[in-house]
Order: sequence, then C-alpha cells, then structure tokens
Amino acid sequence: MSRILCGCVKNSRAFLLTNFLNGRSLSNTSSDNSKEYDVVVVGGGIVGAASARELKERHGNLRMAVLEKEHDLALHQTGHNSGVIHAGIYYKPGSLKAKLCVEGLQLSYKYCDSKGIPYKKVGKLIVAATPVEVKRLHDLLDRGTKNKVPDLKILKGEKEIKEVEPQCTGLEALWSPHTGIIDWAVVCKRYGQDFKEKGGDIWLNFEVNGFKESGSADYPVLITSKSGKSVKSKYVLTCGGLQSDMLAELSGCPKSPRIVPFRGEYLLLDPKKAKLIKTNIYPVPDPRFPFLGVHFTPRMNGDVWLGPNAVLAFKREGYKWTDINLSELLDAVCYPGFIKMALKYTTAGMYEMAKSLYTPLQVKDLQKFVPSVTTADVKSGPAGVRAQALDNDGNLLEDFYFDMNKGKKGTAVGDRVLHCRNAPSPGATSSLAIAKMMADKLETEFNLK
Ligand SMILES: Cc1cc2nc3c(=O)[nH]c(=O)nc-3n(C[C@H](O)[C@H](O)[C@H](O)COP(=O)(O)OP(=O)(O)OC[C@H]3O[C@@H](n4cnc5c(N)ncnc54)[C@H](O)[C@@H]3O)c2cc1C
Repeated sequence: MSRILCGCVKNSRAFLLTNFLNGRSLSNTSSDNSKEYDVVVVGGGIVGAASARELKERHGNLRMAVLEKEHDLALHQTGHNSGVIHAGIYYKPGSLKAKLCVEGLQLSYKYCDSKGIPYKKVGKLIVAATPVEVKRLHDLLDRGTKNKVPDLKILKGEKEIKEVEPQCTGLEALWSPHTGIIDWAVVCKRYGQDFKEKGGDIWLNFEVNGFKESGSADYPVLITSKSGKSVKSKYVLTCGGLQSDMLAELSGCPKSPRIVPFRGEYLLLDPKKAKLIKTNIYPVPDPRFPFLGVHFTPRMNGDVWLGPNAVLAFKREGYKWTDINLSELLDAVCYPGFIKMALKYTTAGMYEMAKSLYTPLQVKDLQKFVPSVTTADVKSGPAGVRAQALDNDGNLLEDFYFDMNKGKKGTAVGDRVLHCRNAPSPGATSSLAIAKMMADKLETEFNLK
C-alpha cells in the first residue's frame, strides 16, 4: 500500500481538514483537480461510519474519505430508530444477522465504555399473551440459545413477569437481561470522530451521482456529485441505506434486490405513565411477518416510545404521509417483486395502515401487555423509514446483503466498488461487527495490505 500512497496528492490533506474543521463542505472541484483517495466510503450512517473507522484503524496509511449527502452524519435510519441494543434472539441460527448481532452487542458495550457514551442495560421482555404465542416464545428461547445469547430466562405467569415489570401482563415472557438502550446517532458521530482523528476526511453535502472511469491508472474511479464536485479513488464501499440499490446500479449492478421503504411511526407515552415503564416490552413476533411488532421502548431521555408500525412510505426518505415522490413511488410499485409482496401481505399491510391512521387500534395492540395504557395517554411521535431489500419474487431479504459488479459490464469501475445493499435492524447494534466483516471483505476483494 505504501506504493499507492506515494502517488497521493500530499498537500491536499491540510486543505481538506481545514475546510472540514471549519464546518464547511468542500467547494467545487473539477475532475482535473479532484482529491485522490485509496478507499472512499459512500454513506455516513452507522454502517458506513463504522466501516470507515475500522479500515482506517487497521490501515492508518490508507488515504480515506467518507462522502455523505446530508449536512451531518446519521440523519436517516441511524438517527431514526428504536435505539435498542439487541441481544440477537430472533435471527436464524447461522445467519449473518445472528452472528453479527451477538458479537455487535458485546463490541458496542465495550466501545461505549471506552468512549464514555451513555447507555442503559434495561433488559427486554418478550411477552406471550396467548397459548400459540407461548409455543412461539419457547421456539425463540431455542433460537436465542443456539445464537449463544447469554442468560435468557422464561418467566412463568403474571407473578414472575410483574417482578420484572409491574405494569406488564402476559402468560409467559422471555427475559433478556443484556438488551440495552442507546442513542445510535451519538455512536455514529463518535465513529466519525475516531475516523477523522486517524486522518480520514468526511465530506458532507456530497450526494454521489456517478462512478465513472477517471482515466488515471492509480485512481481509476471518479466519484461525482449532484452539485458538480468529484473525488478519485482506488476503491469504493457504499453503505447507502435507503439509497443502497440506486448506488449499486450506478456501478452496473442489477436493479434487484430493490429497496422498499417502510415507514415506522411511533407514539409517545405520557410522561406520567412513561415513568412506570422500566424495560423494553415486545410482543412475540408473528413468524409470517418481517418486523418485530409494536413495542414499548424506554429512551435515554426518559421518554417511552410505542411502535413502530410498518407502512409503505411514498418516498424513500418520507417520514410523513404527506412526503410523496411520484417517481420513487412508481419505481417501487412497478417493480415485479413489489406486486408479489403486496399480494402476500395484503391483510397485514391494510391493518398496519389502519393502525397508522387510527391510533386506538395501535393502542389496542399495546394493551395486550400493559392494560393500563389508554388512547388518552399517547400522542403522535417521531418516525423512521426502514430500508428493506426485496427480491424479484417478492421476498423480503432477511439477512445483510452485499453486491459487486464483478467481471460484468462496466468492469473497469464495477469491480472496484463494493455495495452493502441490505443492512436492516439490528444493523446499528451489529455495526462494529459488520465493520470488521466489511474490512475483511475489502482486504480480500481489493487486496489491501
Ligand atoms: C424504525 C427503525 C427502527 C430501528 N430500530 C433499531 C434498533 O432498535 N436497533 C438496531 O440495532 N437497529 C435498528 N434499526 C436498524 C438500524 O437503524 C439500521 O440497520 C442502520 O441504521 C443502518 O445504517 P446504514 O448506515 O446502513 O443506513 P443509514 O443510517 O440510512 O445511512 C445511510 C447514509 O447514506 C447516505 N447516502 C445515501 N445515498 C447517498 C449518496 N448518493 N451520496 C452520499 N450519501 C448517501 C444517507 O444520507 C445516509 O446518511 C431500526 C431502523 C428503523 C428504520
């Protein structure tokens, strides 16, 4: 790699850092005087920031940059989620999700302790309200045990459940003492700070719109932005969340799997009732559906969020019903996989929409576990949009998914750009473990030493 570094523009770094520290994004640069990097990471969410940090920690001599289209890091999924540090119970044994979540939780606690980032280990109850759910709860215990989630315990009957959470009711519950809560945006920004402290550059307001051949033998990929800026790089990793498929297409990868944006809306619990909730309270998920179901989530500031539901967003970054982008909506609904998925989940999808529009329905779901909650105790809260990858056959991709246009059309650029195309929940919990895997992948694919 030292050979590569010899070819770098040496005095550009001071200029970059000065501009960044001044809080400005860089001014326009033409392709002639583009900055040159060994590795560029597109996307300043938690997956991109963690991966950039990990690679820079391993290879301090690599010239690296993160390109983010917004004015700050963590403004999309990373800054709009439940803030749970998941233990790894739900995921199919042997899957990347299972492995990386369990590892990610341990790495997250260690990292936050070392940096003084606040979190609370409030634990989590998964509550069975019906005999069918009791059976599923035991299947979950089995999964969690196979995934090596420590100290899981079945609580039998109201008495044992109420010892952990006096407000909660149910037939049985699975208690996970190591589940925690945190603000993932804070963690992401700290990853970014580590990256900068090691000499990495972060370009904000840089919306990537192309990967082209630069004509340079040393830095063959020209990365262009919507506003006319550009940088050159030897290799690229994209972690674009809600835009991950669009970024993959830019380097010649197929349209599929497509990202379908599912908005998750939360209700806010009245502060007087919020004080009574001590732990995360989740339903037993229905195995036919991809999401975990509406839950009670205590927040770091003492609030309690109830949700999220799952409704189709009419815009990839559409946080409200009124956020509509016709071309994105048409793109989503005309995709063959979308029609098949819509047919599969018609009833569940309609119910989710009804809950979104009529709060008492959502409250009814929550009363199964905390009967004292009423519609008068809740008001509309924030929302997040999940980037969920969908294949051509209408299947929602469960696991993390990576792609590269290797040996196909546009190869000169395509085989230098690796894409993270699906990083759904528990992507934040898993971020440090994903980053390790991603850095291994980059080292292998791009022969980084
Ligand atoms: C409602 C909800 C609840 C969740 N709850 C949890 C939870 O409790 N625990 C947990 O572990 N996980 C949770 N998740 C999942 C977790 O938030 C995600 O897995 C994680 O944030 C994904 O990170 P990311 O970096 O891939 O995506 P993002 O955070 O979305 O970041 C992608 C970034 O790429 C940028 N970008 C996109 N296109 C371009 C471009 N062309 N040029 C430059 N930049 C670009 C975007 O602006 C964005 O900043 C939840 C998610 C949602 C939506």
